[in-house]
Amino acid sequence: MNIVAIESSCDETSAAVLANGQIRSNIIATQLIHEQYGGVVPELASRAHQQHILPVVDRALADAGIPKRDLSAVAFTRGPGLLGSLLVGASFAKAMALGLNIPLIEVNHMQAHILAHFIEAPRPAFPFLCLTVSGGHTQLVRVDGPLTMTVIGQTQDDAVGEAFDKSAKLLGLPYPGGPLIDRYAKDGNPLAYRFPMGEMPGLDFSFSGIKTAIMYFLRDNTKQNPDFINQHLANICASIQHTLVQMLLTKLKRAARETGISQIAIAGGVSANSGLRMAVTQAGHELGWTVFIPRFEYCTDNAAMIAMAAQFKYEAGEFTDQAISPMPRMEL
Ligand code: ATP
Ligand code: MG
Ligand code: FE
Repeated sequence: MNIVAIESSCDETSAAVLANGQIRSNIIATQLIHEQYGGVVPELASRAHQQHILPVVDRALADAGIPKRDLSAVAFTRGPGLLGSLLVGASFAKAMALGLNIPLIEVNHMQAHILAHFIEAPRPAFPFLCLTVSGGHTQLVRVDGPLTMTVIGQTQDDAVGEAFDKSAKLLGLPYPGGPLIDRYAKDGNPLAYRFPMGEMPGLDFSFSGIKTAIMYFLRDNTKQNPDFINQHLANICASIQHTLVQMLLTKLKRAARETGISQIAIAGGVSANSGLRMAVTQAGHELGWTVFIPRFEYCTDNAAMIAMAAQFKYEAGEFTDQAISPMPRMEL
């Protein structure tokens, strides 16, 4: 079985080919146009997807060495994401499936982030818990099967990736700032400054308070010393990262305790964060968890994870038809 998958939910145009259970190519075109605006501009994202999609899909097929006539299905991200971006991938996938007369498979992007764990060994066993942390989501998910997932906790306001990116913006760093905070944090003291972690009941999260706290912290300190950020960048980044990671870890530990599940995975763009990867690994040693952390290229948006999810749907006989439309607010 050979599947070509397309991901276009946000600002990455990606195509991947999964052939006989193996990812054979995973091409990702990241849109750099948004950097000058400090965030993703939906209209520009949609246009960039239109420019990239054909060469990206062609390249994925060529690199995989799979001719179009050997494809068994076309998969695409139905949601969640930006409507204009999703439309490009959905329209392209529909046309391709129609032209080749092969089945069409719609994939939930957040389900795919989790199923990225099945691309290569070691693969988690069911049930497992997944902390999905990305630019638009922060969720604790109980995974009972490849297509059976339950959100048991989630953010009530901002996503943690957003908290990383907005903090970086306050520090004058370019978009997306999450990876830069990670980089500067490596040379800093995580306990240099303290930020409030907030009190959110149960397994839910809230990241809007810390963003405001960082804003006031920077305002007060730069009032006294205009060069404060430059002089203390590493310590500030390390402290912000430490706080965000601890907020995630607290809830992840609680979820593991309450469910009695000790197979623990992380997924999504923020699972590329070295502080989080280290903290979860460490907690795993202390608490006897088996920890699953995706390879970097499968953390942030990519079509390989869409192809992986599509394979599970193919096996379950879950196909869709030409009447399908994107779903920007698709739930898990
Ligand atoms: P969603 O998956 O919720 O639809 P998205 O697709 O935009 O959102 P991803 O591509 O999965 O999100 O993740 C992007 C986010 O990950 C950005 O907020 C980015 O800053 C963050 N991120 C990526 N690498 C790191 C890192 N090393 N440290 C912290 N944050 C990171
Ligand atoms: Mg992105
Ligand atoms: Fe994503």
